[in-house]
Amino acid sequence: MTGGIRGGFEGLDACVHCGFCLQACPTFLATGDESDSPRGRIELMRALERGELEATDPALAYHLDRCLGCRGCEPVCPSGVRYGQGLEAARSRIASVRGVPLLTRVALWALTSPGVSGVVYWFARVLRATGIPRLFAGWGRFRFAMGMLAATKPSDRRTVGRSDRKAPSPSGRPTVRPSVLLFRGCVQQGLFSHVHDATARTLGVNGYQIREVTGQGCCGALHAHAGLLDEARALARTNIAAFGDGDGDEPIAVNSAGCGALMKEYGHLVGGAASERFAARVRDVTELLAPSPVPGAPLDLHVAYDPPCHLLHAQGIADPPLKLFAAIPLLELVQVPGAAECCGSAGLFTLVEPEMSRAVLAPKLARLREAAPQVVATGNPGCLMQLGAGLAAAGLQTPVRHPVELLDDAYRAAGRYE
Ligand code: SF4
Ligand code: SF4
Repeated sequence: MTGGIRGGFEGLDACVHCGFCLQACPTFLATGDESDSPRGRIELMRALERGELEATDPALAYHLDRCLGCRGCEPVCPSGVRYGQGLEAARSRIASVRGVPLLTRVALWALTSPGVSGVVYWFARVLRATGIPRLFAGWGRFRFAMGMLAATKPSDRRTVGRSDRKAPSPSGRPTVRPSVLLFRGCVQQGLFSHVHDATARTLGVNGYQIREVTGQGCCGALHAHAGLLDEARALARTNIAAFGDGDGDEPIAVNSAGCGALMKEYGHLVGGAASERFAARVRDVTELLAPSPVPGAPLDLHVAYDPPCHLLHAQGIADPPLKLFAAIPLLELVQVPGAAECCGSAGLFTLVEPEMSRAVLAPKLARLREAAPQVVATGNPGCLMQLGAGLAAAGLQTPVRHPVELLDDAYRAAGRYE
């Protein structure tokens, strides 16, 4: 990234090797190997910066490739190490020498190129509608991918948990409706347009006017995580231009935690006043809804909330999703130990590092089996797919849904859309 004279490595300087981050690191917990821990990786990255390790060093690439980029190590660090920025700087340097693996290139091309991705998502939706992905869902690369696609299907279980109790009346809604611009993204638009619909409806109930923005595109997060910072910057500039620098300070609503985390860092990524102003307008949809959400109808549901790493750790957003759940009477949150740990999705990680990804997912699935919620809720497309595929592979039928979808159900049950 462009933020510092050392391109992001300076974020690692504060590390004092205390090791507080080790137990927060899912890959260290999975392997017990110091080189798969934040502290070990920081040493590798600093050696790369100092020139003591070549960017082509196989051990360096091996252990950095196995990092989820979940940033679970950041909030627990007493020294304020900016691990995520250091990781992106290191991956960028490695990618500039080694290139990016073919599988990553193909996935980025298929999922994020404007013309190509439209066709890919169209085929994916057709396949999803046949119900075949659900039948094939399971372990193994192909079957897990089928499970991920099946997990993107809009839920047809809207009436589950519906109660006959009446919704509380909304109080004191503002008469002036502030406008908000909706960020649509690539995967989220291609496979989760129902989440966009729920976002627009719930924001509308809460007094916002939704404005659509043409010319926007992929946020660039998948590129940045792969070390392709120039491509990420180009995508960021497209979005900054599309959302308009001179359009006032209207918030930009994002319902994908991974996208929101990078878009809030556009200032650091791109540099300059326009990108800083853009970043300051980005809000997760739960932040916009949270201050005092209009109550919905009661839903008698047991829900396990799995906070996305890029919402909780990267954006520091913990309470707003809980406020949404609290606006749904009778909905009960099931506490699942280790919910804040990464699910192993991490953008393309689940595709390119399947072994580590499944190792990280396994303990979460075991705890969800134990807790037996009726619904798992999470606010990021990658997590929705990873958890949905994992639950299906584990033989559990628990649906995985975005928090705004549950609020949307509660509003529909309350007749707020009539
Ligand atoms: S990253 Fe932070 S928590 Fe981890 S070893 Fe360094 S100073 Fe300690
Ligand atoms: S980003 Fe996640 S996987 Fe990588 S070192 Fe930090 S805690 Fe571990």
